[in-house]
Amino acid sequence: MRTRFRGITQREGVLIQGPAGWGEFSPFAEYGPAESARWLAAAREAAFDGWPAPVRDRVPVNVTVPAVGPERAHEIVRASGCGTAKVKVAERGQGDADDLARVEAVRDAIGPGGRVRIDVNGGWDVEHAARMIRWLDRFDLEYAEQPCATLEELARVRRMVDVPVAADESIRRAEDPLKVAAAEAADIAVVKVQPLGGVAAALRVAEATGLPVVVSSAVETSVGLAAGLALAAALPELPYACGLATMALLEDDVVAAPLVAEDGMIAVRRPAVDETALARWEVGGETAERWRLRLEQARAHLDPAGPQTPATIEEARR
Ligand SMILES: [Mg+2]
Repeated sequence: MRTRFRGITQREGVLIQGPAGWGEFSPFAEYGPAESARWLAAAREAAFDGWPAPVRDRVPVNVTVPAVGPERAHEIVRASGCGTAKVKVAERGQGDADDLARVEAVRDAIGPGGRVRIDVNGGWDVEHAARMIRWLDRFDLEYAEQPCATLEELARVRRMVDVPVAADESIRRAEDPLKVAAAEAADIAVVKVQPLGGVAAALRVAEATGLPVVVSSAVETSVGLAAGLALAAALPELPYACGLATMALLEDDVVAAPLVAEDGMIAVRRPAVDETALARWEVGGETAERWRLRLEQARAHLDPAGPQTPATIEEARR
């Protein structure tokens, strides 16, 4: 990683190759075998089945503005060329005034036609969230992502403010998007391909929730990002810019032509793995052993009959 993100400084994973191409299996360290099985299902889909046909050839993406000062925030947005900015707020050790200054700078940099969303990462309680969202909405917020930690809190905030609420951390498993919809906790679902078990599974989930979807990455190489891009390209509607411009977080890639944004868009394609690049990042020893074991254990949890998750909002309510 270029900088610490999600508490990690090194991104690890396994790439598998099959007749349909390369797939990425990169569950984070805290995910156990049962949960990792979905991530493996996504990698196997990429390697053996391929993805549904795209309905668009480029996908709009957002620039992410970390909890930096207003001048730096302004620079990041201007340098990105993106028409949508996601601003991190509620950073530990900072105050509401820091968030206001940052959001103001981002609105100034992106102009009146641009879109500005905030990402709270569950950092506020209900009252604080309602107050801050109303306050920051003077800069015209597109939506507020995960303003509070729990579904119940999200549902309450959603009833208190006019700004749409998006669920991100509340969606970590295949059954979660339907739970979010059933709890009426969000207007928008942020989804990632690997935790949902693949592109086709994520498409089904998106349809079942009836919520507009923002496709996000799990900080993957271009092999994993290609699956997110395939999902964003296959969705019937794509009203929001996606969180797929994350290659910048990684120091290097395993393909010769990484999936990066140009003028706020990523062209829909599946870049080939470059064997030389791959060799630079291949590891052996204990790390390889640990991943061999994770792969074995995840495989043991793969259900041949398919995932046992609710298929409808009604089932999720029960
Ligand atoms: Mg988020």
